Amino acid sequence: MKFLCIDCDTQMTFEDRQQPGDGTFTASFGCPRCGRRVAMLANPMETQLVNTLGVEIGGRTLDEQPLEFTRSAVVASDDAFVDDPHPPGRGPRPGWSTEAEDRLARVPSFVRGMVKKIYSDYARERSIAEITPAVMDRAREELGLEGM
Ligand SMILES: [Zn+2]
Repeated sequence: MKFLCIDCDTQMTFEDRQQPGDGTFTASFGCPRCGRRVAMLANPMETQLVNTLGVEIGGRTLDEQPLEFTRSAVVASDDAFVDDPHPPGRGPRPGWSTEAEDRLARVPSFVRGMVKKIYSDYARERSIAEITPAVMDRAREELGLEGM
């Protein structure tokens, strides 16, 4: 991931990053020519995506997150509906209503597995037995997800 200073047409250099522990991630970059600075802010979902893909920002891979998104969650996205009968974590794996599965099916396939896991984790942590579009709306609001 690179940032260019448009005025100078110069690649900005990595200055600092912060991962405050609430799932968000910020990185700041500065233009070596004019000194302009920009900062990137990623919400938890985007941070997970970056971590999952192993994207390096500023030459360093992000720290491992306690939430376990594995590369296979993305790579095996065509198998997004495969259920692990014994998932780690609290509570039973929540079910998906037909409407919720329909909505999940509209998520781009390359992130579907991860999105499904986000909603599943959200529901499990709150002992929600069945994920419905209403649950997805609430999760999206609370987690700051866009367009899922
Ligand atoms: Zn500049």
